[in-house]
Amino acid sequence: MQIVETIDALRVARAALRGRVGLVPTMGYLHEGHRSLVCAIGERCDQVIATIYVNPTQFAPDEDLSTYPRDLERDFALLEREGVALVFTPSDALMYPKGYQTYVTVEGVTQGREGGTRPTHFRGVTTIVAKLFNLTQPDVAIFGQKDAQQVVVLRQMVRDLNIPIEILVGPIVREADGLALSSRNVYLDTPERSAALVLSQALAQAAEHYDRGERDPRKLLAVVQELVEAEPLAVLDYVSLATARTFVEVARPTEEPLLLSVAVQVGKPRLLDNTLLPASLNTLAGATATLGVV
Ligand code: AMP
Repeated sequence: MQIVETIDALRVARAALRGRVGLVPTMGYLHEGHRSLVCAIGERCDQVIATIYVNPTQFAPDEDLSTYPRDLERDFALLEREGVALVFTPSDALMYPKGYQTYVTVEGVTQGREGGTRPTHFRGVTTIVAKLFNLTQPDVAIFGQKDAQQVVVLRQMVRDLNIPIEILVGPIVREADGLALSSRNVYLDTPERSAALVLSQALAQAAEHYDRGERDPRKLLAVVQELVEAEPLAVLDYVSLATARTFVEVARPTEEPLLLSVAVQVGKPRLLDNTLLPASLNTLAGATATLGVV
């Protein structure tokens, strides 16, 4: 596995890769969720590139950029075990040199939900991902359903800017008790770790209602809202029920695939979780075929 930190070295190493090349962009502090993305894309490509970069432009000034957990040596070991060919770990000075002034902005689908709470977040995401796409020139890239709005936004960007990269969507990897894995889970103390289960439990309950035939958006949203609000250590940020393809909030019952997503503050971290409805779509094939596909 080659580890490169400069653009020249990246271009040389990239040019030497043969066949179909897959990209897994990450911010590091890798866990099973990241590993599952590396595995899934590895099965569909000849060579895998991973990037590790804590991108400052997607953090607001009051967010956890300076304390974001990092462990590069452990990350390299995991990526090496998974057969990754090339890892790119750029510095801030390399990605945003003095005088930097170009940003990529996606409009409609960045509004509301994560974009409502974090108004500058997606501009940072689309800018860095566009740069990483240009630098690594992959045939295919994979992102997690965990950050479902990010998938919808990136698919919009790829479509609008005619970027010839296929986007795969990996299902959410969870702890045995249901908590979605996240690098930020390290911030949770023991009582908060228990309280954090409310996200997956509330979504699972709503999915059960959906399976039993409930289609009223207000009722499905209320299931999640009431369960989260009953947990004293949890503060609901938003709960959203949107069409999986267009990410428009639904007001009426529909048989279209839906995305039910929730953001909850539990102690320090804001935790995200979601489910596609029907929940049988929560697979690589299901999410790739529905989330942000228009
Ligand atoms: P991050 O390092 O948090 O930027 O995440 C890198 C990629 O891993 C993103 O595409 C995330 O959506 C994805 N990811 C994060 N958590 C999970 C998880 N629990 N299961 C699957 N993918 C995940």
